[in-house]
Amino acid sequence: MSVAGIGMTSRRTRARMINRLREQGIRNESVLAAVESVPRHLFVQEALSPRAYEDTALPLSFSQTISQPYIVARMLEILLEGRALGKTLEIGTGSGYQAALLALLTREVFSVERIEGLLEEARNNLKKIRQFRVRLKYGDGSQGLPKAAPFDTIIFAAAARGVPEAVREQLAPDGKMLLPLDNESGRPKLLLVERRGATNYLETFLEDVRFVPLVAGIA
Ligand code: SAH
Repeated sequence: MSVAGIGMTSRRTRARMINRLREQGIRNESVLAAVESVPRHLFVQEALSPRAYEDTALPLSFSQTISQPYIVARMLEILLEGRALGKTLEIGTGSGYQAALLALLTREVFSVERIEGLLEEARNNLKKIRQFRVRLKYGDGSQGLPKAAPFDTIIFAAAARGVPEAVREQLAPDGKMLLPLDNESGRPKLLLVERRGATNYLETFLEDVRFVPLVAGIA
């Protein structure tokens, strides 16, 4: 297929993906517009690009996965409810896909990845779509990103065992953090943490999710 042909197909299939997200209950128009404009097929391995607009997680290099579009959209929608994202930290850059969406939704985006090779892939992917605004950082996101803190929004793309307190403290006073939390029952759930002033945090458990684990240290 010609490059132009792939472009056309991807725009059509992306429009179908938006319809599906609406059917699944995604209502935030800014999120839907961002998902519609980022070509997900450029963030997965070429052999998988025909499947890029299915509502499914897909493998990345280094045994990681790009999350299912529905859950990415849902997480962004939760964080955007009644507010702007403001200065945002993503933990787990992976392919850079979610970072690209974040960059369309807010001005300041930092994204931390612990696997150097994957961070390079994300850098290339973002270059392909000429998105240069995401500040990519190599490091252990379970420590957050103290140098750039505080953040209005923190989003985890990997499941933690408990609430990482060092990261929670990097929230701005009215900041929100959303993370998949693994638990003993083996049914990980999304946890929304809202900071209320200096020392109070409100925690709300939301839907069941499946994510790769948050791993301490760098690789
Ligand atoms: N947001 C990504 C999906 C990432 S998958 C996308 O849109 O493609 C989860 C990522 O979290 C993996 O790349 C994994 O290497 C990374 N990760 C796991 N533990 C981490 C940690 N402690 N610090 C930073 N990144 C981590």
